[in-house]
Amino acid sequence: MLPEVVGLKGPLSCLTQARYGISWGAIGAAEACLEELIEYTKTRVLFDRALDENQAIQIRLADMQRRITNAGLLSHRLGQLKDEGRMNPTQVSLAKWNNVRMALDIARDCRDMLGGSGISAEYVPIRHMLNLESVITYEGTETIHQLTVGRALTGKNAF
Ligand SMILES: Cc1cc2nc3c(=O)[nH]c(=O)nc-3n(C[C@H](O)[C@H](O)[C@H](O)COP(=O)(O)OP(=O)(O)OC[C@H]3O[C@@H](n4cnc5c(N)ncnc54)[C@H](O)[C@@H]3O)c2cc1C
Repeated sequence: MLPEVVGLKGPLSCLTQARYGISWGAIGAAEACLEELIEYTKTRVLFDRALDENQAIQIRLADMQRRITNAGLLSHRLGQLKDEGRMNPTQVSLAKWNNVRMALDIARDCRDMLGGSGISAEYVPIRHMLNLESVITYEGTETIHQLTVGRALTGKNAF
């Protein structure tokens, strides 16, 4: 029951708020995966060398941090617009799409970089990965958010 609400506008505005929250939640999931991966690469020794001493590993870690930082800036800016009453649903679509995609890709990469251990639920990446596979579908699938942004860019409804 939503008092004083007429039509679908009320329920849909709840979804906009929930999607805004999801854009932050995805960042937390990605951070948790990266944190655990950093610890793992410090202690995993291969051919007398810790994994985190490899350039290829450091570049992958750095790239994850770059994507997490960008997602954080996006949600932070959205929060400022929300506080000012200027946040619109298309901006939220872009953030939900970007941040959940970022987190899912990072969870998958972390799972891969944990090697065989990555498939064990003892480590967080596969748990976040499985959850994020749901998050990318609920509250609007990735495709639907892409079409929402596409509509804003072209002025044409392609749904
Ligand atoms: C874990 C989980 C929890 C959920 N919780 C809730 C909840 O609490 N409340 C609730 O109401 N719902 C909930 N849902 C439902 C969720 O919102 C829907 O599953 C989601 O919106 C997709 O709808 P659908 O499953 O009917 O897929 P469909 O709409 O049938 O889509 C199937 C595929 O087609 C794509 N597609 C659809 N339309 C187009 C188009 N025009 N052009 C191109 N591609 C298109 C979609 O992106 C998707 O890949 C939940 C789902 C999951 C997985």
